[in-house]
Amino acid sequence: MQDVINKINELANGLGDISLMEVCGGHTNVILKYGIRKILPSNIKLLSGPGCPVCVTSQKEIDSIIEMALNGIKIVSYGDMVRVPGTKMSLEGARGKGADVKIIDSASQALNYKDHVFFGIGFETTAPMTAYLLKKGLNVFSAHRLLKPAMKVLLEGEIRIDGFIMPGHVSVITGADEWKELNVPQVISGFTPELVMVSICKLLELIKNKQNIVVNNYDEAVLPQGNIAAKNMIKEQLKPVDAEWRGFGMIKSSALEPVNDQQNARIIYVDIIKNVKTDIDTACRCGDVVKGLCSPHECPLFGDECSPQMPRGACMVSDEGACRITYVYER
Ligand code: SF4
Repeated sequence: MQDVINKINELANGLGDISLMEVCGGHTNVILKYGIRKILPSNIKLLSGPGCPVCVTSQKEIDSIIEMALNGIKIVSYGDMVRVPGTKMSLEGARGKGADVKIIDSASQALNYKDHVFFGIGFETTAPMTAYLLKKGLNVFSAHRLLKPAMKVLLEGEIRIDGFIMPGHVSVITGADEWKELNVPQVISGFTPELVMVSICKLLELIKNKQNIVVNNYDEAVLPQGNIAAKNMIKEQLKPVDAEWRGFGMIKSSALEPVNDQQNARIIYVDIIKNVKTDIDTACRCGDVVKGLCSPHECPLFGDECSPQMPRGACMVSDEGACRITYVYER
């Protein structure tokens, strides 16, 4: 490992200020847990991006699913989604008021609740499982997102990004070739601290050599073409749609919804959700955190008014959320 650190120092010496972004909450976790930011040279900055699906789900979607639950629609979802604060309450709060909200650890458990609406979330990694549930006949409220459209928005320049540490799990499904059109230095990384450090080193090499290419530093799991069967399953059951992201606003073709309208809970329950009123908590800076525009420490609520025990914003809920990870390792 010392060799890699030496190489990073050597490369950084010949470069000016460099901003690298990791777009996977799993990488943020490794980076903070192992203090990787602290051992990098001072001109190499690591930013956390929109790699936490819980964090980028829009407030409107959270409020809509809560409204459905309060109106007697049975909901099943992952524990994180149940705790995300909506405008008035969370799904957990709705459960306290008598709503039927089941919590599962994996999508396959949703098959035990076929009369419930599955609140599906995640990037390309979890979309195949939601597609499978649709195939099995469940109705779905999909908050699934596609990562590449958001990365394109990031590259439009609100913040300077010199290279991306690319998400390993998402790339297992999409394949390494998916990212070529981003035309920026990228290294697909695994999740050990060693792999992340090597990925940073390779990124600096690409930047130094002005190579806007994708390097696959996780080739034991990621193929150039990805997982074809999983991609076909997504294509069969889900279609790309425009969607609003927390912090980003509307992004074209950046989300997935059921192909079959009769299984799409947004359509089935449109009368319940069409008048949902959403208020954004203006003190919470999640919208800036997911774009790398501010660190969790810069949010005035961090630590005291917002903690994993009492989350005020979505980024404090999930293990992939930058605020929660920062609270755990850097508070
Ligand atoms: Fe939002 Fe809490 Fe993070 Fe502040 S610390 S940005 S309130 S999640």
